[in-house]
Amino acid sequence: MLLSNISIRWLTAITATCVVVCFVVFYLTFKYFWSFERETQHALLLQHEESKRVETVIALEKQEMGSSMADYAAWNDMADYIVSPDPSFVEDSIGIHAFTSQSLDGIFIFAPDASLVWGMQYDDEAGQQISYDSFIPYFPVMLRESQRSSADMVDPKVRFVVIDQEPYLAAASRVCDSEGFNCDKGFLIFMKKVRSQFESVVEQATGIDIDVLSRAPFTSLPAKQINVTYLTPLDFQGHASVLFKLLHQVKLPDFIRTDEVIALICFSLLLFFVSLLMVGYLVRPITQANMALENFKASRGKMPDESLFVSREMKDFARAINRIIAELEENRNKLRWQSDHDPLTRLSNRRKLERELKHFIAELKYDWLAVYLIDVDYFKLYNDYYGHLEGDEVLKSVAQALEQIDFSGDKVVARFGGEEFCVVLAGDREPDTGHYAAQLCAQIRQLAIPHQRSPLGGTVTVSIGGVNAFQAGLDDYLHLFHHADAALYQAKHTGRNRYQVLDWQPGKQKNHIGSPLPHKLS
Ligand code: GH3
Ligand code: MG
Ligand code: MG
Repeated sequence: MLLSNISIRWLTAITATCVVVCFVVFYLTFKYFWSFERETQHALLLQHEESKRVETVIALEKQEMGSSMADYAAWNDMADYIVSPDPSFVEDSIGIHAFTSQSLDGIFIFAPDASLVWGMQYDDEAGQQISYDSFIPYFPVMLRESQRSSADMVDPKVRFVVIDQEPYLAAASRVCDSEGFNCDKGFLIFMKKVRSQFESVVEQATGIDIDVLSRAPFTSLPAKQINVTYLTPLDFQGHASVLFKLLHQVKLPDFIRTDEVIALICFSLLLFFVSLLMVGYLVRPITQANMALENFKASRGKMPDESLFVSREMKDFARAINRIIAELEENRNKLRWQSDHDPLTRLSNRRKLERELKHFIAELKYDWLAVYLIDVDYFKLYNDYYGHLEGDEVLKSVAQALEQIDFSGDKVVARFGGEEFCVVLAGDREPDTGHYAAQLCAQIRQLAIPHQRSPLGGTVTVSIGGVNAFQAGLDDYLHLFHHADAALYQAKHTGRNRYQVLDWQPGKQKNHIGSPLPHKLS
């Protein structure tokens, strides 16, 4: 598994990151469902109301246009004019005044058969009459709806249309009598350009910015935009050729604002470091336990006290680990002692002896080394007579006695094997080898252990072979054993219960100290 071999430091960082991610996800989810969704719905509702307001104002404009048309369409004089066009009617009753007062751009009067009786387009800004040719193709379209409508009463139809890419408000109606009935007298069309004033009127009335756009036939509607609504009134052909683009005052809320993002990042960072500290605090005992085990492996340090741990489970864990470690430590010490000592005499064994000698030689710690091999005389006879267990007791006593040797430098007393022992004296001054050999013999003699079978008398005695060497140039401790053994051999074969010591320098012939004969002890 991915996390199976990860360090606790990384695990801590991953945990802290997870905490932060959970927090951010929770925050964003909460924000979405709790506030964003509700605020969005509310804003959409308000935008819908804004659209309605604009629609109402536009409808009022259309209504106003429709009522002014009704004034002209339900008029006997107009009906009479269609029957017998009298120029004075146009001059007196319509004239320029009708254009300017109603802000109209075109007025067109038709006979019942839809033929144009009179028409005019007037440019109010330029103050002159202009050509209405561009309107002509649209007259049949505009009249068709009025032709289909009932002839019983006046009913103007008002639509937004696009002519020559210009948006217009167009009204068409049957011409009726002055009561508004009998509407078979002809038709009337008013054209009013949608100018910027129209936008201003709507904006002032609603407080909402609008753009009036013309749309070419058969083109697709603009793509949806946030905070924008398109109103699409239909023209006489059923096309949405004029578009009202509403830029809403009420805006949809952002899911998250910049200041919220900054606050979220700051808080996430804070949370990350707090989590890092918290998790670090919780796992610290494990880290320390691990360190302690590492130290234990390297024979340094010890487990932290259980009071350092935070939870009860971790205290139990520490207690158990401490107990196991204490047992391991005890067993290890026992094993280490056993591997270096002789269980019977409790002296160093030959392995430790050789190690220390090697150490002395390798480090050139002392100038002089004296090595003595001590062998119990006629010990087989002792065993045979007193028994092996008694023999063991003798070996223990001899070992203790040898340890009593009084030497100011470093010394090692070891069991060499069987009933043989070895004493190493290391010092910076040349030792009096014979003196120490005699002292060792005396120590044993003082034990006065009865040995009735010894041909040498009634007590246990030892023979000693010793060698004294100046350390410089000594490269192998075995040479020392070899010469000490040779000296011991001499001591044995010249009668036992005596010592023989050699002064030996590496590379030179050995020298007997004092008498060439081994020293016999009385
Ligand atoms: P020598 O004076 O020539 O040394 O005669 P010795 O009998 O001491 O020497 P030998 O090598 O013939 O016998 C050594 C004896 O030491 C034989 C063995 O039974 C005895 N021995 C060796 N190790 C132990 C031990 O651990 N306990 C006992 N009780 N005896 C041991
Ligand atoms: Mg022996
Ligand atoms: Mg012996």
